[in-house]
Amino acid sequence: MAIRRSAAAKINLCLHVVGQRDDGLHDLQSAVAFLDCGEWVEVRKSGCTQLNILGPKAAELPRPDDNLILKAAALFPRHCQTDIRLHKTMPVASGIGGGSADAAATLHAMAALWDLPLPDVAAQVLLGADVPVCMGRSPVLMQGIGAQISPLGDVPALFACLVNPGRGLSTARVFEQLASKSNPPLEPPPPAATEFCAWLKRQRNDLQAPALAAEPMIADVLEALAAQAPLLARMSGSGATCFALFESLAAAQDCASTIQANQRDWWVASGALLI
Ligand code: ATP
Repeated sequence: MAIRRSAAAKINLCLHVVGQRDDGLHDLQSAVAFLDCGEWVEVRKSGCTQLNILGPKAAELPRPDDNLILKAAALFPRHCQTDIRLHKTMPVASGIGGGSADAAATLHAMAALWDLPLPDVAAQVLLGADVPVCMGRSPVLMQGIGAQISPLGDVPALFACLVNPGRGLSTARVFEQLASKSNPPLEPPPPAATEFCAWLKRQRNDLQAPALAAEPMIADVLEALAAQAPLLARMSGSGATCFALFESLAAAQDCASTIQANQRDWWVASGALLI
């Protein structure tokens, strides 16, 4: 029996870096949502644990031994030998949580395959700061080092276009170049969906400026998105993927096809935010 779980693209709708702890980890506040597009992980019982990576972005990944999926699988008891397949479609090191989403999908799939409970949040966050948030699909507020997750409240129906210029960015390098580690916190999210977009526009991604300094092509991506008259265009996570939000799926899809037609080498996706 094979069990497949999808790994949805994660979007940091805003991301404030509000402090740094003594151990060097950053205190974050981020509104996170997921897009109904992404990749998948499939598991089946086997005589040994192994990972095979296929799909259009398979070649971008390091050796399977270093893959977060195998680190996630190692959280299960030794007898849970599992054959794992990853269908990789999202660009690697691109700020939309690819590795974290794959690790979360692996935890869900293996727990179902072996009828075991999920590893706790403390174990999840050790795999990666974005793994706990990627365990769910609905919009959430992520705080601290990634383990504090709460519902974001009423979010309106929104549609997004994601664009990556084909340049991977190291999260650690972007954080190193951040001018201040202690920036103003998020305003509390509004209770009513009608106020959500106005609230979101007033928030920031504190990693956008250092990412732009490291990869000037992000400015081209933001400009291309802004030219499609979205509600908002911003970078996700530590980049380089940027997103634009729209009120209709047709507008998000038009944005995607226009940008793809002009920039054949860029990775472009569109879809609905999962709410
Ligand atoms: P985040 O938005 O959570 O910061 P990201 O989208 O910027 O993540 P990933 O695609 O998760 O970045 O890649 C981060 C690093 O993790 C890469 O350098 C990559 O080599 C490594 N990695 C390990 N496993 C995976 C995986 N399954 N998919 C993608 N990257 C992986």
